[in-house]
Amino acid sequence: MRYRIAEGALALTLAAAAVIVAPGRAHGTTVPVTAGTGWKLNSPAITHIDSRPWTIAFHDTASRTKLTPYLRNTAAELTSYLGVKVTVTTKLVPVTRGKCVTGHVISYRYMSKPNPDRPNQSFTGSCGNTAHAADGAYVYINSDYWLKTRNFSEPVRMNVIWHETAHAVGLSHPATCPTSKTGLRPLMCADTYHDLRTRRYSPYEATAFRHLVTNRPST
Ligand SMILES: [Zn+2]
Repeated sequence: MRYRIAEGALALTLAAAAVIVAPGRAHGTTVPVTAGTGWKLNSPAITHIDSRPWTIAFHDTASRTKLTPYLRNTAAELTSYLGVKVTVTTKLVPVTRGKCVTGHVISYRYMSKPNPDRPNQSFTGSCGNTAHAADGAYVYINSDYWLKTRNFSEPVRMNVIWHETAHAVGLSHPATCPTSKTGLRPLMCADTYHDLRTRRYSPYEATAFRHLVTNRPST
């Protein structure tokens, strides 16, 4: 009997999710496309980006000082791909791993080994609202990448920031990682820093960003 109760609870969860999705689809909008060759969205949590502007903030002043020059590039790229204004501010928004950042804010934290279990890692937690629009994220950038002994180049560091920022607005790692004619893979396929070679978003991420916009429900 307990198994039946568990199954019933699961069915209820699915039904509730369907109800949340329904209002946006009632206006003749097609079902959102959330994956393709070399790209994937973080659905069902995030299927689209709405038209509200975004703010880039920082966990603390050290994070702000270090990362602001990089994020000006990122904000300009996102603004152009998403068609919504992304602004680098001086605001401090302290973040905690596992706790959603909301209000169309991405807050960056610069620290050594933010994931002690995987000391090489940087990571991002993104959150969608009840309409499944991207609504905020925390981004932990591993400061070890700036150590002289690590021999990271600036383009690689920039790629880490671009990769994590794409997570922040709703991209996940694609299921397929094709190689382009020039031998490059999608930036979101890079799961180790050695893989981050493409420099800036590739046409695959551009496709994902376009779907974030076209999946926006009409109101
Ligand atoms: Zn990633």
